[in-house]
Amino acid sequence: MSKTQSAIIVGGGIGGAAAALSLAKVGIKVLLLEQANEIGEIGAGIQLGPNAFSALDSLGIGEIARERAVFTDYIAMMDAMDANEVVRVDTGQVFRDYFGGPYAVIHRADIHDTVWQAALKNSLVSYRTATKVVEVNITQNDVEVIDEKGNSYKADVLIGCDGGKSIIRDSTLNDKPRVTGHVVYRAVIEREDMPEDLRINAPILWGGPHCHLVHYPLRGGAQYNLVVTFHSRQQEEWGVTDGSKEEVMSYFDTIHPRPRQMLDKTTSWRRWATADREPVESWGTGRVTLLGDAAHPVAQYMAQGACMALEDAVTLGEAVKACNGNAIEAFKLYQAVRIPRTARIVWSTREMGRLYHAKGVEREVRNLLWKGKTQQDYYKALEWLYGWKEENCLQPR
Ligand SMILES: Cc1cc2nc3c(=O)[nH]c(=O)nc-3n(C[C@H](O)[C@H](O)[C@H](O)COP(=O)(O)OP(=O)(O)OC[C@H]3O[C@@H](n4cnc5c(N)ncnc54)[C@H](O)[C@@H]3O)c2cc1C
Repeated sequence: MSKTQSAIIVGGGIGGAAAALSLAKVGIKVLLLEQANEIGEIGAGIQLGPNAFSALDSLGIGEIARERAVFTDYIAMMDAMDANEVVRVDTGQVFRDYFGGPYAVIHRADIHDTVWQAALKNSLVSYRTATKVVEVNITQNDVEVIDEKGNSYKADVLIGCDGGKSIIRDSTLNDKPRVTGHVVYRAVIEREDMPEDLRINAPILWGGPHCHLVHYPLRGGAQYNLVVTFHSRQQEEWGVTDGSKEEVMSYFDTIHPRPRQMLDKTTSWRRWATADREPVESWGTGRVTLLGDAAHPVAQYMAQGACMALEDAVTLGEAVKACNGNAIEAFKLYQAVRIPRTARIVWSTREMGRLYHAKGVEREVRNLLWKGKTQQDYYKALEWLYGWKEENCLQPR
């Protein structure tokens, strides 16, 4: 079997940057094409589990990421109706020793920059911005992509890292996104504007009827990230539109004043109607595969979308090594392990969304079940997720 010499990666988000780094590390020449004028991340915070740090360690950038991240003291879920704690998972030293890595929060720009700067140091990585791919042609000997200006780029293989609305996915699979009907508003709050009793060094999720809020510190607590989510009353279309404070308030009017006080602090009223996709049995054929949100878009309730993209990238590199440099064979191995794992995330996330948003008797049962668990119970339940490592990445988990 011949060794793969070159790859095109479409999309320069966290997934594309990590894939470029991972493939270059195993000797494949990478051309990354990004539609935006600059490669980077906008937006606010992101949570990273120990599995993400294992992936970052494998890519050789774990220490840099740790320096830029804030390690949390715990993760908690509060009942937004009565402000009582339902779940607390300690993420201190015992957790770090158990899973071999921290739970942390980090600014999106910081984690993206950490990965991308490392990729750029590798002479096998080159890139083009302002290059929107619009067409894919697969031949027996190579794969060609064409951008909207008509330029053609060729390589041995192609990895679509072009996000939830992936054109690479559309060119190989015939499936449709599934609009969740949930709407998200995001904000960054300066420390002085964050209510004092909520300046907590932990991701805190407040679960309410058909809604939830999440907040956590950014950049050492100088800022706080706030995400609010609710089930929309109207038919939604996947995408971003203008919203309003009145809309948000109307979904949270029955919750306890403690979490509700944060809604007054928000200054951005853009609304994201979210979507995921039903897991599929293949992410492409022969020379083409997918990675990150292009492969497995998922709602944010388990905070694992970017973590999965990092795991994908490491697994892809390990699969290439295991297949003696042949990426076409490696894609099969990669998909065989990544499809079930990421499908589990998609389905578990949907279930978590339902439980976070429970009301009435379901809320009472949820609280009873979760309040009764010990730290060891939670650690064991999270083992399949946070226990991922490079050493076991080619085994099904
Ligand atoms: C509210 C919210 C909170 C979240 N919180 C977390 C969290 O705490 N932890 C976590 O792990 N994950 C979280 N996620 C998920 C995470 O943000 C995504 O899973 C992750 O960013 C996906 O990265 P990606 O590189 O696969 O895709 P993207 O970030 O979408 O990148 C795709 C890139 O491809 C480019 N592109 C698209 N089409 C083309 C084209 N045709 N030609 C060229 N370029 C193209 C785009 O411009 C973009 O740069 C959250 C998501 C949301 C919405």
